Amino acid sequence: AAVDGTELETALQEITAELQSRSERGQPADYIPPLARVDPAHFGIAVTLTDNRLFAAGEAEMPFSIQSISKVFTLTLALGMAGDSLWRRVGREPSGDAFNSIVLLEHERGIPRNPFINAGALVVADALLSRARAPRETIGEILRFLRFVADDESVAADPAVARAEKATGHRNAALANYLYSCGNLNNPPDHVLGVYFHHCAVTMSCAQLARAGAFLANGGRNPATGRSVVSPERARRINALMMTCGHYDGSGDFAYRVGLPSKSGVGGGILAVVPGVASVAVWSPGLNGQGNSLLGIEALEMLSHRMGWSVF
Ligand code: GLU
Repeated sequence: AAVDGTELETALQEITAELQSRSERGQPADYIPPLARVDPAHFGIAVTLTDNRLFAAGEAEMPFSIQSISKVFTLTLALGMAGDSLWRRVGREPSGDAFNSIVLLEHERGIPRNPFINAGALVVADALLSRARAPRETIGEILRFLRFVADDESVAADPAVARAEKATGHRNAALANYLYSCGNLNNPPDHVLGVYFHHCAVTMSCAQLARAGAFLANGGRNPATGRSVVSPERARRINALMMTCGHYDGSGDFAYRVGLPSKSGVGGGILAVVPGVASVAVWSPGLNGQGNSLLGIEALEMLSHRMGWSVF
């Protein structure tokens, strides 16, 4: 059945009003100054329906650092280039560990558990580099892809965030070097890290992100442009990975509370997919203990409950 626009509009307004009044909002990520400076009072949410209607509330047009949400798009792009051979280099199991865990890698001989933990995203970045060769070209290719799926030429990376990621990214450098020593990177670790830091530094608004993710809700086809991004089967598989691995060691709890494929970022954004129905982007910079947006999860929990949106 078609989504009732009035019901959705009312739900978004009420959820936004309630969450904007909360005093317990979590703390913004503090590992780099550009993220630590962000006011935790921000809140925005946007929904793109597969019939291409857009609904939004709060600061849905304000750009924020998408961070690890970018991993959904780099994975999509890498699968398009490397196909299923990518799965020889990275697994598809939830890690139950923090996003930047180094322990698992040694146990598993340099094959990261999944493409959404940092080690896995570095392997994906390496796969993208192997085709374009230069980091600058690869970053350009990722940005072009994001502009294509968002149907918006203004999508860009924030150079200050990319620089800060590089200046503080010692653990990511350790992961890249370890992967390289295991033979699971084909490009120099600093090239791979350059690509990784830049895609984490992309800024987008909830409205842009909801549009960019809409192909995942719509059988692989962008509802705004009608253009096919991936096959329906691939969209389903990316959704499966988001469901099982999208929130690091908080993935099980998220599935229990919300029941939607989704991917979080430490900038406080979350992209969620309601297959066949909608893509939802929410942003609230304060994080919980697992590095996922505290109020973002609450917003999705409230919205999925009110609209009956769950894959279960
Ligand atoms: N740039 C962050 C890092 O690699 C991304 C983490 C995230 O969004 O979860 O540390």
